Amino acid sequence: MELAAIGATESGGVNRQALTDRDGEGRLLLLEWARQANLEPSIDAIGNMFFRRRGQDNDAAPVMTGSHLDSEPTGGRFDGVYGVLAGLELLQVLHDAKIETLRPIELVVWTNEEGCRFQPGCMGSAAYCDPDRLAQFLETADADGITVDQELQALRRRVPNLPEHPLGMAPAAFIEAHIEQGPVLEANKSTIGVVSGIQGLRRYNVVVDGEAAHGGTTPRATRKDALLQAVDIVSALRDLVQDPEDTIRFTVGRFLVSPNSPSVVPARVEFTVDVRHNDAATLTALGKKILETCVASAGRCSVSIEPVSLVAPVVFRDSVQQLIRDAAVRQRLSHFTLPSGAGHDARHLAQLSPAGMIFIPCLHGISHNAAESVEPEHLAAGARVLAEVIIELADSPKLTLA
Ligand SMILES: [Zn+2]
Repeated sequence: MELAAIGATESGGVNRQALTDRDGEGRLLLLEWARQANLEPSIDAIGNMFFRRRGQDNDAAPVMTGSHLDSEPTGGRFDGVYGVLAGLELLQVLHDAKIETLRPIELVVWTNEEGCRFQPGCMGSAAYCDPDRLAQFLETADADGITVDQELQALRRRVPNLPEHPLGMAPAAFIEAHIEQGPVLEANKSTIGVVSGIQGLRRYNVVVDGEAAHGGTTPRATRKDALLQAVDIVSALRDLVQDPEDTIRFTVGRFLVSPNSPSVVPARVEFTVDVRHNDAATLTALGKKILETCVASAGRCSVSIEPVSLVAPVVFRDSVQQLIRDAAVRQRLSHFTLPSGAGHDARHLAQLSPAGMIFIPCLHGISHNAAESVEPEHLAAGARVLAEVIIELADSPKLTLA
């Protein structure tokens, strides 16, 4: 609740967008708490902040946990923050109880997970896992022309003298706790979500070209109406994605008509297709069928389809899923295995090291909304499962996670 006060909105939510002054204030507060737990802070080239608790073997690869503190403009109080504070709680408890682990444990705050002010989202974890992307990210500007680089310099003035953390250093494992942001756990009356993976995504820009003509004089036979043709295409796509199991996520979220004049036959329509699925082969096949369907339904208009985003699904290792499930069982917590519909930083970390996620339910699945809410006992349960998993990993001399 103290963090939620930073950037609090009138409707009870949070507006703490990436690399704003509010984001900096949140990080400062966390830094203060981390120092009380004797953690060693550091920062990397994209502004990810790390808080390290030493291990008996301090040269061993650390076990890493954390999430993000930035929010959407209409964000809630728990998205991202929960995973950071659950990790902090775990480190505080280890500190208070004077428990040593074999490996170091690092709490991390990833920069710009949301991607609302600067695109793309998950920028911090993407640059961490693939440092070649750093230069381009630093030049990225927001709507006012302010760059990530400028804001990172401001952030560093706020938290001066932090040691540098290298990019790309693989942890022994990364585990992220997060609210589900969907309704599945609540519907299943389960407290712990064992996340099996993160959906892949394909996004296309589709342009349908027809011909502008007089709406009063042009007979049907000679019209090339880009809008009516685009409607046909969208409806054919809707038929294409009617899977009985309801696992395909299909959205046409933008639709632009030109010239957009009441008495002119539309000359051009541009729209987006966003399709998501957990299975890579299904998603690839869908992408191919989407292209075919657009062409086949174009009628007398011409159609062009440009892929703008192709992100493969991530499957978290069974062994990591099992660690989380076992911890839930030992603590007599109900659990349910589910894929994540939303993107998360763990997507990138899974390319670098074994990774996994722990979900807890949120009220009616509402997120990116001031009404985002959770039960205190779920917060505690998720933190306890996270603690068990992290300590188990941190005490393993050799990590053989299949
Ligand atoms: Zn989040």
